[in-house]
Amino acid sequence: MSLELDPRQRAMLREMGVHVWQPRALAGPDNPAEPEIAIKKVAAGANSARAEPRFDVEKSANEPLPAPAGAPRTPLLLARVPGVEQMDWLALQAAVSGCQACGLCHSRTHTVFGVGPIPSGAAAPGVDWLVVGEAPGENEDLTGEPFVGPAGQLLDNMLLAVGLQRATGHAAPRAGVSSRVFITNVLKCRPPGNRNPDAAEIAQCEPYLKRQIELLQPRMILALGKFAAQVLLQDSLPDVQKTPLGKLRGQVHRYLGVPVVVSYHPAYLLRSLPDKAKAWDDLCLGNQLAPTVARFA
Ligand code: URA
Repeated sequence: MSLELDPRQRAMLREMGVHVWQPRALAGPDNPAEPEIAIKKVAAGANSARAEPRFDVEKSANEPLPAPAGAPRTPLLLARVPGVEQMDWLALQAAVSGCQACGLCHSRTHTVFGVGPIPSGAAAPGVDWLVVGEAPGENEDLTGEPFVGPAGQLLDNMLLAVGLQRATGHAAPRAGVSSRVFITNVLKCRPPGNRNPDAAEIAQCEPYLKRQIELLQPRMILALGKFAAQVLLQDSLPDVQKTPLGKLRGQVHRYLGVPVVVSYHPAYLLRSLPDKAKAWDDLCLGNQLAPTVARFA
């Protein structure tokens, strides 16, 4: 699978450790094989992986996924606010920021709802891509924004390589890059010590994600890591809990009729350079489903 890449996108991919083959004839002064573009360095070593320690579960990404934890680790406090399935965007945001449906509300600093364009009604187009990660880590809990640590930097570079940029107040829009991407997580609160989400927490939080998807109407969902894959595919793929993540890749799944592409979590990719090339294939598949580059370049 391949894309037409401009120098900036190739530079981004080089930073990701992905080497895209290009016929020699295409390289030249206007299309150099090694463009000189200064970009922020992505931390890609053991040290950066240690900065976000939760994702040890993907050390062996091709091992069968473990079954969900049985008993809840944290006692449930209250039921969720009723009527999530009918909420508009602002009501949903408010429900998440006041959520006490599981014990994570005790330890969080901020809820992390997500970042991206706000849906403004039935007439407005939905986002192109919805990226779903696992759960906020320490940096995200402190800032209230998803994917702001080393894994987030890698994710930003991956998205930029397909012409997408997160829409935040503090990042200047780039020419030819779309910000019609929304980034969120399965869990909206940080599990203490960056442990894995447990089954009860996921179940309590899932209606928020479902409603986000209904309101955002993404053209494509990129599920990053096993928790996102399990939540989004559990209805269509009964065996998803037992299926290795590597086997969920490379095909188009569906959630509420929306195409879903599964890929590796960026925190795992920081430790596993060889799988970056596979992640690039996944982005190319996503780009075929919702071709942001073609529409915005
Ligand atoms: N990992 C995730 O899955 N989500 C974040 O927001 C940060 C790290």
